[in-house]
Amino acid sequence: MADSKRVSTLESLYADVSDANTILATIDSGLLTSYQGEDRAAWARLYATKRAELARQLEGLPTSVLSGRDTRAIAAVRRQLKALTADGAIVKPVGKCQDSARKEIAYPDLKSSLVACFVEIGNGLSFEGGKINRVSALDLLHTTSDPDRRKAAFLAFVPLWEAINGNNEPDSPYRRMIAGAAAEATKSGSEIDNAARDAGIDPIEVERWLVQILDAWRVSSGDVVVEPWDLRFQASEADRLLAPYIPWDSLQPITRRFYGDLGADLAQMGTLYDLAPRPDKAAVAYTEFVTHGRLVNGAWRPTVARVSAQYERGGLSILNELIHENGHVVNLTAIRNRPAFVDWPSDLFAEAVADVPAWSTYEPAWQRRYLGHEAPEQLSLRALYSAVVLDAAWSLFELRMLRVPKTDPNALWTEITSHYLHVTPHPEFSWWAVRVQLADLPGYMVNYGFGAILTAEMRQHIAEALGTFDTGDSRWYAWVSEHLLRYGSERDTRTLMQDFLGRPVSPQALLRQIHRLTPVGGEMVTTAGQEVRDQLSPAPEASAQLR
Ligand SMILES: [Zn+2]
Repeated sequence: MADSKRVSTLESLYADVSDANTILATIDSGLLTSYQGEDRAAWARLYATKRAELARQLEGLPTSVLSGRDTRAIAAVRRQLKALTADGAIVKPVGKCQDSARKEIAYPDLKSSLVACFVEIGNGLSFEGGKINRVSALDLLHTTSDPDRRKAAFLAFVPLWEAINGNNEPDSPYRRMIAGAAAEATKSGSEIDNAARDAGIDPIEVERWLVQILDAWRVSSGDVVVEPWDLRFQASEADRLLAPYIPWDSLQPITRRFYGDLGADLAQMGTLYDLAPRPDKAAVAYTEFVTHGRLVNGAWRPTVARVSAQYERGGLSILNELIHENGHVVNLTAIRNRPAFVDWPSDLFAEAVADVPAWSTYEPAWQRRYLGHEAPEQLSLRALYSAVVLDAAWSLFELRMLRVPKTDPNALWTEITSHYLHVTPHPEFSWWAVRVQLADLPGYMVNYGFGAILTAEMRQHIAEALGTFDTGDSRWYAWVSEHLLRYGSERDTRTLMQDFLGRPVSPQALLRQIHRLTPVGGEMVTTAGQEVRDQLSPAPEASAQLR
């Protein structure tokens, strides 16, 4: 009893340290200069003092007499404490892009300098005499109907690709970095090993499942060969048709309404939304804790989360991403556990569950309700699953790079994309290098590409239990919280999913989704688009974009 009390005192101290850490990251993101009336220096002092006290208490804790659950909680505290840096590293890279050219630079610094390239170069790509950020350039690849202008948007990435992978020489910055990542992975395991563990399968199976997904797409997506600058455009006709109905200032109201219909009141959650572009802002959209939920005098004080993104415009894929980020928000907010476990579940689970509501945006029923207009099902499915399989392609790419780091990345990317995605070979471009995660967290893409398997499983199982939820179901949030989210980091993903599904995870649900697509040729895509334009109520902007 006495020891249990010591553990709970220690955990509450841990909660203070953990909060100070995420508050510091919030301040370092540039969103705020102070929090709850205290500036950065005050929070940094509090962090240092409490962390030192926590270390002292951890050292003095008699471990032999603790209960099983207390032992697991203390192990979680020790593990999570190692990851707390209080320097906001995820938010602002500490390196400089130019440092990546130095051959002797150590692996963590090289990684950090490559992340800096995404900020320094990716936030200011030259295009048509002006500057655009990476997100907007990718968006142009989806929306620009003029093929020459699309190619120009694609080529705007060249300085970023060269910063990341030089001229693809064997000691290019990326190739040195991935060698470091592979060496690290042999010591402490890779994200691919973690994904395998979380799915309850052998790491070798991860590759087999990814190949199955990519192959299902290869068969279902027709056989029209496209240039890499046309790949996204070809798949995103649904995005273009619906873009006029999703202006920038509708992103949050639509998101709030959908989650409200799912029984999750976002406005009540106190989340900090930081969505407008800033030049020095993190190059990737992400969600993080600001403060961690905990019991205070017997009452639950809820988690406060923060969403950071760089949205210059609206549109379906951006809306999909914002709903994904809010999927993280409701995941974090649903956790009800002791401080040791009020933390992210596994990366694989977190990314997969965030897509459970996000995938609904590509269902015609969702579009009808929340946008007042819908694109034909086939075009929507194509848009969604083309993005899913592109993530699967990156997952396979990283898996193979990590296994044989001497592999030529451009040759590997060319092989994967030409075989499975029908893309014309262009090994002269490092056009895979558009995702920050590839530099920041090597191997992380598997949490999206392979995570889609879990997303499809969860969507299918929830629909079996509650019925379809694409147009809302007020029981959804409470039910998903109860069955999946409330545990936080306490339950391992494999057991959680096994108990949830009543069987092991399998790729069948995702394969079934991909097979909803019927193969089409380039001509038929255009024909379908023509029908859509006839069906839709007058939307001159949409037609203008299409031509
Ligand atoms: Zn995410």
